[in-house]
Amino acid sequence: MKPTRKVPALLTKGLLTAWLSIAVMTAETKALAETLTEHQQLALEIFRQLVETDTTHSTGDTGIAAQKMADRLVAEGFPEQDVRVLVNAPGKGNLIARFRSPDPVLKPVLFLAHIDVVEADPADWSFDPFIFREQAEHFYGRGTLDDKDEAAIHIANLIWMKRHKYAPNRDIIVALTADEEGGPENGVQFLLAEYPELVDAAFVINEGGGGAIVNGKYVTNNVQTAEKVYQSFTLEVTNPGGHSSRPREDNAIYQLAAALTRIGGHRFPFALNETTRAMFAASAATLPSELAKQIPGLLKSPPDEDAIAYLEQESYGALFRTTCVATQLQAGHAENALPQRAQATVNCRILPGTAPDDVQKTLSRVVADQQVSITPVQPATPSEPSPLVEHVMEPIRQITEDMWPGAAVVPSMSTGATDGLFFRNAGTPVYGVSGIFYAVGENRAHGRDERILKRSFFDGLEFLFRLTTAYTSSTDDAPDPTRL
Ligand SMILES: [Zn+2]
Repeated sequence: MKPTRKVPALLTKGLLTAWLSIAVMTAETKALAETLTEHQQLALEIFRQLVETDTTHSTGDTGIAAQKMADRLVAEGFPEQDVRVLVNAPGKGNLIARFRSPDPVLKPVLFLAHIDVVEADPADWSFDPFIFREQAEHFYGRGTLDDKDEAAIHIANLIWMKRHKYAPNRDIIVALTADEEGGPENGVQFLLAEYPELVDAAFVINEGGGGAIVNGKYVTNNVQTAEKVYQSFTLEVTNPGGHSSRPREDNAIYQLAAALTRIGGHRFPFALNETTRAMFAASAATLPSELAKQIPGLLKSPPDEDAIAYLEQESYGALFRTTCVATQLQAGHAENALPQRAQATVNCRILPGTAPDDVQKTLSRVVADQQVSITPVQPATPSEPSPLVEHVMEPIRQITEDMWPGAAVVPSMSTGATDGLFFRNAGTPVYGVSGIFYAVGENRAHGRDERILKRSFFDGLEFLFRLTTAYTSSTDDAPDPTRL
């Protein structure tokens, strides 16, 4: 453990005052309008503008949102060459903004948020998803939780630091990107391939974290350090077919169905890594007591089989096993013909550290039928867990303790994927952390009437501001591989 230090150490006096006033404001839940600080008002204005800019794949344009943010930064005095809007396809634009250090001693830190959003059909919503709405304790609109909240916060913080003439000791990069939500033109892949020098950083702060509120209590602030690897396989059986009035011994549909049934019955081996071990150890506080009781058995070596079975049945299995599940099926060409072809998609979520090739071999062994071909739908992007290093984790713990005393900082592994995987695959560690808390069980990301707690948005603003300044004002002289 390194000695405790003040976070942030190099704040100017004006900045510190503003920053303390935020802390006071967020501790209260007064009527919003009169109580907002200038920093909060700025963030809210940007948030509203982003939510009201349609960035869906079908009708939106992330380039327009990126340009609006770029215009704000240039208007605040950022040099134009440090604010780049890079378009990778029609309707797909990305922003890269750089806040320069006058005297960089460390490699940059990069703050990443995607600005595309999942489709939102107004007919499904209680109100227009592209009109930002304040109601009671929440802000509503598509993207309020995923991920325009963080995009707005990063831009507001850049502007706030600029206005207060903050002098970081390393460059701060903000990247707002396209097509994280499964669109065809992923902005992070594009930037890493075409502009690697613009996104070259010691580490990346991304979405994927967030905090848990249980019965009104702030329990954990999660730091996503690992993601499962996404890989789909196509299973296919072909057959000469024939007239259905004269069935053959062999049948492509039966053969494929038998293969899928065998996969359905297979369990990949149990495994924990540094992140999931820490995650289970710390999550006991947020779990119902029956579940929490099982955790010590799970962490034992060898683990307790009953504990594994109990947690599996409560759907925690995906956190300690690779999973493969049939998701699509297609077979036959006519009602009165024997099928000539039967095809299924099996979607796997692979534990980091397991080779996708090995999963394919396991599937072949489990299927045990040479006539069932198994091929990857697309190459997987492996994503090594990011190490739990002190120069990243310690400021997170300190600020968390300061803002939400008693809340634990918990490393986490996502069973889904974010854009973090492309950076991890390129060798840059990624930490998903936001300080934005949610009531457990209340996640409307991708769903209808998406919303975020007002208080959580402003808490996230403060948390990420303090984290940004902590990472860029460190006087830490411990050996650090990220030093320039
Ligand atoms: Zn997202």
